[in-house]
Amino acid sequence: MKFCDIPGHEHAKERLRSMADSGRLPHALLLEGPAGIGKLALARAFAQYIHCTARTPDGEPCGVCPQCVQHSTFNHIDTIFSYPVLKNGRSTAVSDDYLPDWRSFLEKEPLADFGSWQKILGNPNGQPQIYVEESQQIISRLSFTSHAASCKIVIMWLPEKMNLQCANKLLKLIEEPLPGVMLIMISDAPGQILPTIYSRLQRVPLQRYTDSEVEAFLTARGIGATQAAAAARLGGGSLLKALKAAENAPEDNAFFESFCSLMRLAYMRDVAALKKWSTDTAALGREGIVRFLQYSQRMVRENFSMNISMRQLCAMTPAEEAFSARFSQFITVNNAERIVAHLNDAAADIAANSQTKIVLFDMAVKIIILIRRC
Ligand SMILES: [Zn+2]
Repeated sequence: MKFCDIPGHEHAKERLRSMADSGRLPHALLLEGPAGIGKLALARAFAQYIHCTARTPDGEPCGVCPQCVQHSTFNHIDTIFSYPVLKNGRSTAVSDDYLPDWRSFLEKEPLADFGSWQKILGNPNGQPQIYVEESQQIISRLSFTSHAASCKIVIMWLPEKMNLQCANKLLKLIEEPLPGVMLIMISDAPGQILPTIYSRLQRVPLQRYTDSEVEAFLTARGIGATQAAAAARLGGGSLLKALKAAENAPEDNAFFESFCSLMRLAYMRDVAALKKWSTDTAALGREGIVRFLQYSQRMVRENFSMNISMRQLCAMTPAEEAFSARFSQFITVNNAERIVAHLNDAAADIAANSQTKIVLFDMAVKIIILIRRC
């Protein structure tokens, strides 16, 4: 991973480079900022830059020295990754138990996000943590001498997921740092880090991307200009969120059409057409319907925000916004919450194997009543 692989963040990159170039590396560093902006990738580039034996004049790791090669294959002997894991029925778990999954996770998408990692861990309802055994393992691995006589680096992703015991053990390492050891933490929610740890970290804050930076990133990944512009607006400054929005765009366009039909027909009280709409929508299949109903909840919330003049909170595509400019007057404090609740209930019923057409039609009839109570 090189600095130039990560868009923007020029100020932070410069700060990190100068730490390495001057040889004044902090014992414990924190990259903090919103999710989906490449903080973990930046930590990896920084670690590689520190270890690289032939840094280029433009401030990048060379990419070809043995150190760089080890980094690019996740085999660097003096780089330890630490991240939240699940016990999955065992008495304990440490990061190394999931190392192959972790490597393929980062190879597939360096803009790692917690939601995707949680899916890989195999239990969407589990609460991945960094357990106390992890800090014991880190400390024991660090107590061996450095193989390459270079700095040993621990890259800890999401220190806010450390349990208290682990955090207390790790605190010792931060209070009494070992020579030649650097801890790089990457946090989406720094407010949740134990304050005694947080106060001892040298912090590098990272900001969300601008919409135009996100657009440039998406077009560089081969996404068309119009679609990139729409997805950038939905991304809210997160490259990853925008990328996902662009990937979901074809489905979301279909959902948008279906949402508009539902609301128009409900307003017109066209029960016969709503019956046909329910049959057509049922053809999406259970999972497709649930995703449509989630999309519809988002649209109702966006329209409510628009109605109460919180336009700056809205993240919609131009087509959604054009529709909502007129539709939002019907989504008010009197009905927004109840419409969302009906959409949510329908999604839960359908996920639990109820008759899809009946649930959809029943929900549509309830919306007929609510849409005029604005
Ligand atoms: Zn190198």
